[in-house]
This record gives sequence, structure tokens and C-alpha cells, in this order.
Amino acid sequence: MAPINVKRQIHRDDGSKLKILIVGAGLGGLGAAIALLLAGHDVEVFEAASEIAEVGAGIQILPNSNRVLQTWGMKTSLEEYATKPSQVNFLGWKGNSITSMSFAESAAQYPGTFYWDFHRANLHKCLLERAVELGAKMKVNARVSDVRIAENWHTATVVLQNGEEYQADLVVGADGINSRLREIMLGREDPPILTGDLAYRLLLSTKEMLKDPELATFVTEPQVNYWLGPDAHAVNYVLRGGELFNIVLLVPDDIPKGQNITEGNVEEMRALYKDWDPRIPKLLSLCESVYKWRLCIRPGMEQWSHPSGAFTMLGDAVHATLPYLASGAGMSLEDGAVLGELFSRARGKLSPAKKRRLLDIYQKIRAPRTEMVVQRGNLQQYLYHLHDGSEQQERDRVMRANEPGDAL
Ligand code: FAD
Repeated sequence: MAPINVKRQIHRDDGSKLKILIVGAGLGGLGAAIALLLAGHDVEVFEAASEIAEVGAGIQILPNSNRVLQTWGMKTSLEEYATKPSQVNFLGWKGNSITSMSFAESAAQYPGTFYWDFHRANLHKCLLERAVELGAKMKVNARVSDVRIAENWHTATVVLQNGEEYQADLVVGADGINSRLREIMLGREDPPILTGDLAYRLLLSTKEMLKDPELATFVTEPQVNYWLGPDAHAVNYVLRGGELFNIVLLVPDDIPKGQNITEGNVEEMRALYKDWDPRIPKLLSLCESVYKWRLCIRPGMEQWSHPSGAFTMLGDAVHATLPYLASGAGMSLEDGAVLGELFSRARGKLSPAKKRRLLDIYQKIRAPRTEMVVQRGNLQQYLYHLHDGSEQQERDRVMRANEPGDAL
């Protein structure tokens, strides 16, 4: 594997600098901003919210996207917030071990790549700071309602909800799973697809956990743990070097139609896991309130870019996946890295045809990989939620024989 080189920002004075407008300041939009700034272009990010911040709790950054972040010069800033688990453990729902994978072994195989866990707010802040340091302009309260392509195909204009219009050589839609820009690109409504699952997302302070020796080891020996059970699974890991503990419970979706996030009932949640590995009910007894998030996906989008070459898409807006491979954000960061790499090669004034060629290559590189992740996420849903029996035993046997996570 090639060594990790930190990219140097390209300086352009040959008329090849593009004005790029990114819609959405999530992890994907900010990643693309960094990559395209390093490629020497002018970047402005439009965010609908009044503040640029990230909601949610923990996030796992696998070695593939960790490598991308390092090439963007972020290793030092991220190390301040990263928790570095030693291994991932897969357990049956009663607490029996299925298999484990040591991250030290995989890091030895692929030097310089790490498996890091973050509080989302910290990862997001590091990306935002790096983007601003490289020259990104940020605009909040900027909800994009339309994108218009110029008749000569040289530019695209975004229209904000308040009627303001902004022109760019390239518009990148990074507006997440409920993407408006995807509908504009397709010219029709296209709601995300329900998966039948939802996620309870919990964040515990580790103070109480440390008083119980059985729970304390989760904090003192950071590892990622997955429990696989009938119709459900559970994931947990430590954040901020032991300050917080992240728990995600994946169960059948019972959120009323028309809503995506609702406040959960703690008693109902505990009842779902009462017969599991006794450490899970113990952990859940420490939780006072919880939210549940409906899990949706967005499989295969035929055309990621407009034929003009002035409008493209990335991240969850194109290929949102079940979080069962912990890879959705990783995929959106990789999208940005590929866009940056391709547009770093731009020399001289870029015609619509040249931009279109780069965007065709972008989709050619990214679509098979992101589609594989969406489909693997669906397969994991089936495999992780098997009831006890012969299929579950076969799953466990295969997991013991193959290192989990091989595919990425
Ligand atoms: P988003 O993060 O949704 O960002 C979109 C941004 O666009 C938002 O800021 C939004 O306000 C803005 N926006 C929306 N509409 C407009 C508009 N019209 N105009 C302007 N701005 C707009 N991934 C991992 O890699 N590892 C994990 O461990 C992991 N765990 C997960 C656990 C759960 C329970 C879930 C649900 C997901 C998980 N993911 C994980 C997936 C990851 O969270 C997403 O894939 C990632 O956040 C997508 O980033 P994005 O930038 O594409 O979209």
C-alpha cells in the first residue's frame, strides 16, 4: 500500500480555478470542500441550518476513510479527539463470543491506517476548521430550493428559499438523505426507502459505569462490541478517551408514518433487551432519556451528475446505507476525496465537456463501491438479526473463518 502523503494545496493562476458551491455542511460536504480547496479551487458551502454543527453521538471511522482524513492534513487535529479501540468483538445476544478482530493486526497489514471512534461534533469541528483554514467560505441559513443550469451549460445557479441566487462553475449536492438536490437532479420526487429498522442512540457519561467492575472494563479497555440477536443488534464503544460511552440499539421500526426522529420510551427500550447479555440491561438502566431514528437507504442513482458538468452529488444524498458497516460517512468522505483528486488535474479553462468527463469518471469510480456498501448493509441487516438456529450457527461459523470487515 502506498505511503500516506499529506496533500499540498495547488495554486492556480492559469484561469483553471473553478468557483464551486457545495450544498450541505455535513461530514460529506465539508470533506468535499477540503478536497476541492486542496485541488486549488474556490469553495463556498451553503448550509440550511442556522449553525454549522453535527447532531448524533458516536461515529466510527474505518481505516479507508481515516487514510483520506490523513491525506487532508488532519491527523494531528483528529488525534486529540480520537479513541483508538484495540479490537472489535462480535458476540451472540446472550454474550457468547462469536469472533474478534485485532486492529493492531490490520494496522500492521496496512501501515498508517487506523480505526478511530469520535464524537460526531469533534470530527465535524475538525473538518470545519480545516476547510476554513484552507479558505472555505461558509453561509448559514441558506436552504437551497432549486438549481438552474445555464443555457450554455457553463454554470449552475442555486436558488435559496428566500429567493437569493448564486452562480457557480460547479454545484455539489451534499444535502443528506432527505436530499432536495437529488429530486432536482432527477426531476421528480424520490423519497428515501424504509428499511424496517430504527436506531436508539444513547450517550452515557462513564462516571456511573466505572463504579461497576463489569461495566468499567468497557471504559478502561476501549473495544468496539457488537451483539447480534433475533430481529435486533446492539453496538457500543467509548468516546473522548473514556469520557463518554456510545450505545446504538438497532430494532424493528415502530415510528409513526411521516416522522423520522422521535423521543423514545426508556422502559420500552429496556424491555426489548431484558433477556440479552446482562451487561446490556445494566447499561440501559443508566440511561434516562433516548431518541429513536428511522433508518432509510438510498440505493443506486443512475446519473450522479447533470450532463452539463455543472452539477453533481455526493454522500447520503446519493447512496445512504444502513449503518451496519459503519461506513456511510466514510463513503461520503471518499466521494469528496475522489472529486478532489479528479479536479486537481484540471488545467486551463474547463469546458462543460471536460467537467462532464471528470464527473463521469467520478461516478465510474464511486458508484460500484458505494452500491456494494448499500447492498452489504442490507445483507448485514439479515445476517445480524437471525434468530437462533442453523442459519445463525452457519453465520457464526463463517464469521469465525473470515475476518469481519474484509470487504472494506
Ligand atoms: P448529512 O450529514 O446528512 O449532511 C447534510 C447537510 O446538508 C446537513 O447539514 C443539512 O442541514 C444540510 N442540508 C439539507 N438540505 C439542505 C438544503 N436544501 N440546503 C442547504 N443545506 C441542506 N457512518 C460512518 O461512517 N460510521 C459510523 O459509525 C456511522 N454510524 C451511524 C450510526 C447511525 C445510527 C446512523 C443513522 C448513521 C451512521 N453513519 C455512520 C452514517 C453517517 O452518519 C452518514 O452517512 C453521514 O453523516 C452522511 O453525511 P452527508 O454529509 O452525506 O449528509
